[in-house]
Amino acid sequence: MKNNIGIVGGGQLGRMLAFDAKRMGFTVRVVDPTPNSPAGQVVDEQVLGDYVDKAAIRKLAEVSDYLTFEIELANAVLLDELSAKGLQVNPSAKTLTLIKDKLSQKEFLQKAGILVAEFANVIASNSEAIPKRLAPPIASVARKDVLRAAKNFGYPFLLKARFDAYDGRGNVLIRKEKDINAGLEKLKGRKLYVEKFVPFVKELAVIVARNAKGEIATYPVVETIHKNNICHIVIAPAQVSPQIKNQAKRLAIKTMRHLKGAGVFGIEMFLTKDNKVLINEIAPRVHNSGHYTTEACVTSQFEQHIRAITGMPLGSTAMRAPAAVMVNILGDRVGKAEVTGMEKALSIQNVFVHIYGKSETKPERKMGHITVVGESVEEAMKKARLARKYISI
Ligand code: AMP
Repeated sequence: MKNNIGIVGGGQLGRMLAFDAKRMGFTVRVVDPTPNSPAGQVVDEQVLGDYVDKAAIRKLAEVSDYLTFEIELANAVLLDELSAKGLQVNPSAKTLTLIKDKLSQKEFLQKAGILVAEFANVIASNSEAIPKRLAPPIASVARKDVLRAAKNFGYPFLLKARFDAYDGRGNVLIRKEKDINAGLEKLKGRKLYVEKFVPFVKELAVIVARNAKGEIATYPVVETIHKNNICHIVIAPAQVSPQIKNQAKRLAIKTMRHLKGAGVFGIEMFLTKDNKVLINEIAPRVHNSGHYTTEACVTSQFEQHIRAITGMPLGSTAMRAPAAVMVNILGDRVGKAEVTGMEKALSIQNVFVHIYGKSETKPERKMGHITVVGESVEEAMKKARLARKYISI
């Protein structure tokens, strides 16, 4: 049996992929720049190197039968090259390239006939210096594009970085014209686009998997609650009507049919008050909104990804319990991470605590999560909030 899995990225997602892959008998290696990374602590080998480090990724590829990634920063050009040489790289590097650029992702979805928020390019990059004799200062060119979008969309709208924008770090809400300059300043040096603000009533997400045979499986539609653009809470199943759930599932499957490669994808959506479901964003990897599946579903999203990329059949996505709630443990200070309160949290039944093993904490850094399974969302939510109060890191 071919059993060597290589993962570009060694964060918490790599760690949780590794837990399940190891249980299934695979040898797992990762590339990550941080020594003793969250995944590095549990895998067979960590190759030290950045997510775009060609030498490190080649070294990983040489000993891998299957190559995958847990972060969009992975070197898509190199992954494509390795795939062309016959290595099994999943999801496809072409899909990664498409999704890396939030603007091309939106264009792709629109072309596929999938509803997304209205958007527009900010033609002039906020960074590249255009020679003075050819153009006015770049910020004023960008400003012009942003003003045009404001005229079309109205306020508020979002100024978004096209690349490397995780956990809301590349988004600025523009409430009025006066905010534009500060927004451009905050995202200085980055390529941008603008997006109409969607006054959603809920944010939903669907984890979808496809295996090498092309079989697709969807997990239950969940509700995600964000604070400061960062996912804080996931409620499974989403407290919405069966019609909305169907709409979200159909949309996730349709999106998947337009994307290449095997693996697990996280699809984030907005639900509007007139019951429309729009796609906000696709993640070509296991996703925070699917962490609950470890305890709450027959097959976790992590095992499902391993199954998908190694040519195995997909497992059942059914929930084992009527409800589950996941709460992220985000850092709230700068310093050495030190977990306290575990004993109290674990004294509550059906509470499962995950700590990612990051040595340093900082505000809003994802340090761990808590999943609670229960008979109802209310019960699970109550326990999750209580357990979260006990844990400090
Ligand atoms: P993103 O990283 O672009 O997915 O954005 C992170 C979060 O910002 C989302 O989960 C939403 O809470 C919020 N957000 C992003 N885009 C929009 C939008 N067009 N309208 C309203 N809220 C948004």
